[in-house]
Amino acid sequence: MSPTSYRTAPPRGATDRDTAGSTAFPPNVGKMHDIDPAIASLPKIHLHCHLEGTLQAETFVELTRRYGISTRYVPGGDVSGPTDPSDVYRFENFQEFLFTFAAVSRALARPDDYARLAREFVADALAQNVVYGELFISPSVWSYFNPNIDVHATIRSIVAELNAVHGAAFALIVDVTRNFGAESAMRTARLAADLAGEGVIGIGLGGDEARYPAPLFGEAFAFARAQGLNVVAHAGEAAGAQSVRDAVEILGAQRIGHGIRALEDPAVMDLLRDRLVPLEICPTSNFLTGAASRERPHPLRELDAAGLVIAIDADDPTLFGTSISQEYACVAQDMGMDALRRFVHQAVDISFLDGIAKQALHGHISAEPTPPLAKS
Ligand SMILES: [Zn+2]
Repeated sequence: MSPTSYRTAPPRGATDRDTAGSTAFPPNVGKMHDIDPAIASLPKIHLHCHLEGTLQAETFVELTRRYGISTRYVPGGDVSGPTDPSDVYRFENFQEFLFTFAAVSRALARPDDYARLAREFVADALAQNVVYGELFISPSVWSYFNPNIDVHATIRSIVAELNAVHGAAFALIVDVTRNFGAESAMRTARLAADLAGEGVIGIGLGGDEARYPAPLFGEAFAFARAQGLNVVAHAGEAAGAQSVRDAVEILGAQRIGHGIRALEDPAVMDLLRDRLVPLEICPTSNFLTGAASRERPHPLRELDAAGLVIAIDADDPTLFGTSISQEYACVAQDMGMDALRRFVHQAVDISFLDGIAKQALHGHISAEPTPPLAKS
């Protein structure tokens, strides 16, 4: 496999991020200080956020210095990269984004690095009033770049940091990486089962959707379901509606990451609606990966009007130059605050929390806004 294509396939028609603003959801609408107070104070839910994709640029630069590696990754080569944090997450096209994600994964080499990643994620999440999150981690990618990493110890160090927080709760979903194939998927499913009850609540499916379709992973997902794990899958992002159908029918996915290409087949839209399979929509990511066309408005409104259940998230926020607050702001700008609040309530409904916890979160979201915690 190519380590630079593990996350998804190349985008359809993506060129550079500067053209991404020509839609109803202009990505990167502003920094946190530009966020409307009503958005800032709204409780937020992460259901589609990759922990590795939240690495702060300053921390990334520091880790690359410590390990004597470049901030740029090119397969089979050694290339120097920028050392100014404001430049390291700047890329001209989607292939360069993939290289950046690879470089980030390479720089996270030890359990301590992941503990720091989790600690910094939590501080940022609290500052944005995130109250609950189910976060993806990709241990098969960690091991690809750092074969000696102790995966169990790393996950436990992440969970310890996530559990230390007050005012928010977090759980982990272990992402299977399609590119590593069926055997690796089964190892990942076993890892998730080993750590169920220790902060891991499910498995996901990411990677090159176009070249590694869902049927390859049926056995691993059946094992995960039999172990009582929740199962979700990225689909309908880099491949079409059939990929969404397979994720639901073959893998038993309870939620679909992105899923917007379900729109290409009315029968798959019916399937999602009839089986109440929700979509995790990340607008900026969808534009930057080419899953959504930059020439047209994001199909969020269309998916919502079709009766699908939708949650909003940020995918790989620091790498995409966005945040969950900015994604919420984009949605509120286009569809209004009431629609955004409805999506946040839907995120609670489709989370893997129990009924009592869901009820408490619904009450919190409906209550009078409170200012977010100050960032330490
Ligand atoms: Zn994702």
